[in-house]
Amino acid sequence: MTRILRALSTKYFTRVLAEFVPLSHTQILDTFRKLFLRERPASRRAFFVKTFRIKYGAYNPFRIKYGGVLYGGVPPLLAAALWLFFCVFASQAQNAPQRSVALTFDDLPMTVIGNDHIAGDLKTTREVNQKILKQLAEHHATAIGFVNEIKLNVQGERDARAAILEDWLNAGLLLGNHGYQHLEFKDVSLETYEDELIKGEPITNALLEKHNLKQRYFRHPYLDTGGTAEKKQGFETFLTAHNYRIAPVTIQNEDWMFNASYAKARKDNDKAAIERIRQAYLDHTRDQLGYSEKLSRDSFNREIPQVMLMHDDIITAEQLSAVLSLLEQRGYHFISLDEAMADPVYSTADNYTGSDGFSWLDRWQLALGKPLHPAEPEPPKWAQEQYDAITAPQSK
Ligand SMILES: [Zn+2]
Repeated sequence: MTRILRALSTKYFTRVLAEFVPLSHTQILDTFRKLFLRERPASRRAFFVKTFRIKYGAYNPFRIKYGGVLYGGVPPLLAAALWLFFCVFASQAQNAPQRSVALTFDDLPMTVIGNDHIAGDLKTTREVNQKILKQLAEHHATAIGFVNEIKLNVQGERDARAAILEDWLNAGLLLGNHGYQHLEFKDVSLETYEDELIKGEPITNALLEKHNLKQRYFRHPYLDTGGTAEKKQGFETFLTAHNYRIAPVTIQNEDWMFNASYAKARKDNDKAAIERIRQAYLDHTRDQLGYSEKLSRDSFNREIPQVMLMHDDIITAEQLSAVLSLLEQRGYHFISLDEAMADPVYSTADNYTGSDGFSWLDRWQLALGKPLHPAEPEPPKWAQEQYDAITAPQSK
């Protein structure tokens, strides 16, 4: 009985229910488990007998006997209605889209607003990462974090900062290389950019090795793949020689942009602004998911395993759970980058040689013989303006 309930709860019931109620799949599952499975092991029998026998047992000809336990049945009409209900649920669950996404976080150990090349303060960095890891665990989500090692090289804090990265590995997550100091490829030579990768390796690689893992993924800062065919090709050859794969991105929600105004509103303790930004951020995330799902169907006649980019920042630390619930409500389950990239779609050529940070779904249009026409939903204008205003003084 427990097995059947568990199978129903995970396979159909909660996923379908998640379509109709404002709760995530995980929340429903937790409630369900609390009610039926985990919290009442001793009284499970009593619970069923009480629930069904007391209500219907007196006049019910059907009794279910399972494992020596007599469960009160339900009246035939109600049983028929329940069965019909279940069939509808099951068929709907089969029609519900089965989607998957690999979660990736850039700029570990933390994004600093207005300067992508420096370390943030240790206390905030610690808090941000703890919150992110907690929410990932609550949603049983795996992820990979891409590191800028310059942010570990702070006098007197090196061990503490490396420990933050190790928390990711202890949580069963993976780490990748995001260049030493987050340089933009178009601004530097191929040789400098190659040095950036090598310089960005030692601490992360040592930590990975300690956990019997290997460094395998490079994420381009600003998703800038070089700006010329020569540089792009040159770096790809270099990556192959060093056993790296490029970590592509197929969903981005511009969390870095919302992060600036969100962090300011939080500092000012402006609750109305926090709520407004949060809503706009989630709306934009929803729009971007719709965009990537549609582009995937239009390009490959199916929904591919997606790779989503977010950043190790304050808005992620505070709103990740809402983003993950949003994904769950749309039928996504969380997979590793390895699993996503095992899909043959990730062998599609990226023939884009410019330096803009387009998603790979956009880039692949060229290989499919279509024009590159990125039409991603834009964040609201005010979010862009506030980002510019907040970050302008620091970047000078
Ligand atoms: Zn970055």
